[in-house]
Amino acid sequence: MTLVPQIFTCTRCGYCCHGETTVSLNADDQKRMIQALNEPEETVRQSFWRVTGNTVQMKTVDGHCVFYDDGCRVHAGRPWRCGQWPLHPSILEDESNFLAISDSCPGINKNLSYRQFCEILRNLLNNDSFSC
Ligand code: SF4
Ligand code: SF4
Repeated sequence: MTLVPQIFTCTRCGYCCHGETTVSLNADDQKRMIQALNEPEETVRQSFWRVTGNTVQMKTVDGHCVFYDDGCRVHAGRPWRCGQWPLHPSILEDESNFLAISDSCPGINKNLSYRQFCEILRNLLNNDSFSC
């Protein structure tokens, strides 16, 4: 059984999809997104991506990711960083990272201590290929 629900349940508040920049897409993310959208690469590039040198991000519209509309419209093809969020490995490095992420994400289980949270997250990151 996945460990994710023990430490996180997304409320779909959309906070993490807002802002003027987005996560960047690696080569696998780009392929997966093109497949999920079932559009030619050039169309996806023109319509949805902001390309700066070698960096590919998603465009933003009205202060949020172009795919955000009361949820993610490209869920199956979203970048891996979106799939991992908010269970980021940096949480294990420093409690301040945990507090910052926990403050911005209502889906984090606030009933656990930092130590308890890290214990579960460490198991998750070590043993499971997961997405949130
Ligand atoms: S991951 Fe957190 S911040 Fe993002 S939509 Fe879900 S609950 Fe909201
Ligand atoms: S791809 Fe989906 S999950 Fe990622 S920022 Fe855009 S709307 Fe949010």
